[in-house]
Amino acid sequence: MRQESSWEPSIFVILRFLGRNLPIVTFLILSLAGMLFTYWFFSPPTDSTAQAIALNSNIAFSAPIYKSIPDRPVAQRISQSPGPLRIGIISGHLGSDSGAVCNDGLTEAEINLDIANQVADQLKAQGVPVDILEEFDDRLPNYSGTAVISIHADSCIQLNTELSGYKISGSSFTNSDQLFSCVEQSYQSTTQLQFHYNTITEHMTDYHAFRKIPRGVPAIIIEVGFMDQDRILLTTNSNIPATGISNGILCYINEGISS
Ligand SMILES: [Zn+2]
Repeated sequence: MRQESSWEPSIFVILRFLGRNLPIVTFLILSLAGMLFTYWFFSPPTDSTAQAIALNSNIAFSAPIYKSIPDRPVAQRISQSPGPLRIGIISGHLGSDSGAVCNDGLTEAEINLDIANQVADQLKAQGVPVDILEEFDDRLPNYSGTAVISIHADSCIQLNTELSGYKISGSSFTNSDQLFSCVEQSYQSTTQLQFHYNTITEHMTDYHAFRKIPRGVPAIIIEVGFMDQDRILLTTNSNIPATGISNGILCYINEGISS
């Protein structure tokens, strides 16, 4: 018997295999050619600057960036229009508790509601839609209004004759500087009260509603005055603090939003 060398049948087998599978072989060759063509087509032309950067780079896996970047960010075709005008007034403690209480039974909640209602009336008279919101109103998480203003009053303690004045704190989640400055200036000039820096608490700076309302809605909380020292202003003359707040909000609507 003739002894066949071992490689002759192997080649014969491979050729016969390729012959039987000609369509697949052709497909694989064409695929490879296609991929190489695609790679060549999309490869950038040799760029000496980019090569220099690549060569000088110490980072092993860095690659030069060829993507062209427009000079300016692409502007929206239609600029975003502000939502419909709507002001939310949180009447402090409404629907929850009475807030601070004086010895004779005067409650913070009733002072807040009286002022909140007057602010709402004054704004509505100027054609501004207003919602009076409760302290923990269900609408807060979805309240996409123009601004939210929470109205509170300060304690009724009689320890110190210095306890007079108002204070305002703005949301740390949405830039509320313009709203703050409009209401602050208007409230100060209308009521002639002093800004009472010393007694700003975490209840104001980390006010719960700031966290609940949607991002993008400016919000402030105002303590309109102390229930003992500023009592006449907050009760008998409550139209004065109400006017101070509503004029501040109108200032924000007229100046803050358009800028
Ligand atoms: Zn309060």
